[in-house]
Amino acid sequence: MAKRDYYEVLGVDKNATEDEIKKAYRKIAIKYHPDRNPGSKEAEEKFKEAAEAYDVLHDAKKRQQYDQFGFDGPNMGGFGGFSGGGFSMDDIFSMFGDVFGGRGGFGGFGGFGGGSHQPAQHRGNDLRLKVKLTLQEVATGVTKKFKVRKDVPCSHCHGTGAEGGSASETCPTCHGSGVVTRTTQSLFGMMQTQSVCPTCQGEGTIIKNKCHECHGTGVVKGEEVVEIKIPAGVAEGMVVNVPGKGNAGIHNGVPGNIQVFIEEEPNDTFVRDGENILYNLLLDFPTAALGGTAEIPTVDGSKVKIKIEPGTQPGKTLRLRDKGLPPVQGYGREIGDLIVNISVYVPKEMSRDEKKMLEELQKSDNFKGDNATKKSIFDKFKNYFN
Ligand SMILES: [Zn+2]
Ligand SMILES: [Zn+2]
Repeated sequence: MAKRDYYEVLGVDKNATEDEIKKAYRKIAIKYHPDRNPGSKEAEEKFKEAAEAYDVLHDAKKRQQYDQFGFDGPNMGGFGGFSGGGFSMDDIFSMFGDVFGGRGGFGGFGGFGGGSHQPAQHRGNDLRLKVKLTLQEVATGVTKKFKVRKDVPCSHCHGTGAEGGSASETCPTCHGSGVVTRTTQSLFGMMQTQSVCPTCQGEGTIIKNKCHECHGTGVVKGEEVVEIKIPAGVAEGMVVNVPGKGNAGIHNGVPGNIQVFIEEEPNDTFVRDGENILYNLLLDFPTAALGGTAEIPTVDGSKVKIKIEPGTQPGKTLRLRDKGLPPVQGYGREIGDLIVNISVYVPKEMSRDEKKMLEELQKSDNFKGDNATKKSIFDKFKNYFN
């Protein structure tokens, strides 16, 4: 693009006042602002062109030289960094912030600039562990011991990171606040951005004489045996959080947590359904027919005896209240039930005598399934209310 006359660029005449120049530039800058013209090379060029024109014309000395010598004036090169194209839009905004009207705007953004910033304490990382629990452990809750490799406070410097008890000093970069504040001009006014001080990583202090054991961090690799209480009622996929048992924070910071991921061991006896436990009772045929008692194992390892009514049908379910799993603390549900599903065992092989007895029974009408159909439908109906 051929260099255009600065007055032409801003659309003002040679006698324009400083205020007129400022207004003209502001209008152009807003019109061709990159935010309004995303991806437009032309708008960007116009934006830069106007910035360059304004840089010269709003400065009385530069303007006079330009008026006298045009682009070949002795100080015109001062804008070289711009016309070279190696500048950022931020540069333009910060150079000419006054044009963009710095009254209030986004100034005191959020809680920044209140001066009440507390230097940061470092927090150690969390550790993750996996634990596999039997259903019985889930039912009762369990305390498990883990030997954990983790960052522990350095005993040589007592976690301070300073050698021989030497004192730490106020950080010269942030003067103890832990943050550095950068003020920039934007189209919308003054913008303050705060970031963690790069010198002290937000602590506000620096250590001159670093501990030779931990190289100034205040933490070293160590081991700890941690006892973790797993509450009753947890389930596969749940995470038990143990606060403060993770990695030590540097410079006596806040320790991280241990997160324990729960896994359940498969169980041959029971099927878990939330807080309820399902158990399949395989009843022998005589007991199902004559009635009697059966022993049912429970999830906490004990056993309960239940009564079997004469004529108990396969497929019948019994609900043993509160013999299931407790809800996990704070989940607000009730303790589960143990649901017993009754099936009847049929032997695969029999002795001659056993066969004979069954053949006798087979002759009896009372043992014919056809006759029992009506009755069994009625039983199912009754069981529905049990
Ligand atoms: Zn140390
Ligand atoms: Zn600092």
